[in-house]
Amino acid sequence: MNYWDRNIETIGREELAALQLQRLKETVARALNSPYYRKVLGDNNLSPDSIRSLDDLRRFPFTAKDDLRASYPRALLAVDREEVVRMHASSGTTGQSTVVYHNLQDLENWTGLVARCLVMAGATRGDVFQNMMSYGLFTGGIGLHYGAERVGMMVIPIGGGNTHRQIQFFQDFGTTIIHITPSYALHVSDVIRDLGLSPDDFRLRVLIFGAEPYSEATREKLEQLYRVRALNCYGLSEMNGPGVAFECGMNEGMHVWEDSYIVEVIDPESGDLLPPGDEGEIVFTTLTREAMPLIRYRSRDLARLYERTDCSCGRNFRRLSRIIGRTDDMLIVRGVNVFPSQIEHELMRIPEVGTNYQILLDRVENLDRMTVRVEITGRTFHGEVGELRLLKKKIEHALKEEILITTEIELMEPGALPPSQGKAKRVIDNREM
Ligand code: AMP
Ligand code: ZN
Repeated sequence: MNYWDRNIETIGREELAALQLQRLKETVARALNSPYYRKVLGDNNLSPDSIRSLDDLRRFPFTAKDDLRASYPRALLAVDREEVVRMHASSGTTGQSTVVYHNLQDLENWTGLVARCLVMAGATRGDVFQNMMSYGLFTGGIGLHYGAERVGMMVIPIGGGNTHRQIQFFQDFGTTIIHITPSYALHVSDVIRDLGLSPDDFRLRVLIFGAEPYSEATREKLEQLYRVRALNCYGLSEMNGPGVAFECGMNEGMHVWEDSYIVEVIDPESGDLLPPGDEGEIVFTTLTREAMPLIRYRSRDLARLYERTDCSCGRNFRRLSRIIGRTDDMLIVRGVNVFPSQIEHELMRIPEVGTNYQILLDRVENLDRMTVRVEITGRTFHGEVGELRLLKKKIEHALKEEILITTEIELMEPGALPPSQGKAKRVIDNREM
């Protein structure tokens, strides 16, 4: 069995609880340095002294994505600005991003967690790690990068896209591990086939999938296509990014690194804590983060925790099932988070746009495609063809600026789309999971 940090990875439950308790107190103390928590915890008379046992965490209010938005840009920062060495941002519903800050120690801790995941996946020095996830504000690419270097692998920071080159690199550099979204992996496998190549032409050993939901069937299909093991990697930028939970290969869920995060599952309606085994919304509390501690952050991801804590891999960290849905309407398109409200916001600022629109998602050659059907005013629709072409470009451009992905725009006559009766069904998602 391979461990990155055997002592911590095989820690017993009791010792873990003691460590969590101590770190939780420290977290609350640090959180009080941020304007946001000083107010919220102050209003509720909460301080590190409020925590005598781990159960006392329940007395703390949840932190929601909207609280992060309202805290933009700095109200959740718990250290001096000068101490911050990195920020990441994730898309918000109407243009308001959520920002997460890290100091050097935070990055060091994150790197360690990712190294743990990768070693658990069987990575060693000598492996060639091709990181096919986008780099940038999005944490998917950069998140695994440093952990992979720390393990001592040769890292190819190629990012997403440019499929022919990716495949060329598999061959030229003997790539053994790739980090990729499952939907892109499907596409890459088609291109491999079209090029007349097969998995035998490569040295791939492990696929690491993350950033978007997918089904067990998709995993099995991809394992057959690539003839290698695929492991699930879960994270969210509010909790650093990838590396929060990762599969150990026993096929029984992803271990959550509980020395760094307290994980709870709640009923998304009532907010009540659910027992292990029940499906609900996952809530995280950071235990080591310094620049921006978060207490009881509601992820909006739906999953369940396994009841058993022991695992044949020797780790006792709780395991999380795959993510089965979201409590909000966030879409993940080519690994990028998109809220329909962002699209609506942009559309409604364009005067030629009418009142109704529809978002269509499908997969073409295993790549996500997003089409936005937009009703425009009658006068525009029956106007000049040249004008229509310009309008299409203008809408496409406005959406690209906001959601960062290219959409197909279809301009429709007023009344062409089914009118909303009650709750509008704006999104038609035909992608197979
Ligand atoms: P971001 O904050 O932009 O990194 O997006 C995080 C979100 O991506 C999570 O809250 C999940 O909804 C989704 N996500 C990340 N990893 C996975 C995964 N392995 N399976 C399913 N969804 C995932
Ligand atoms: Zn395990």
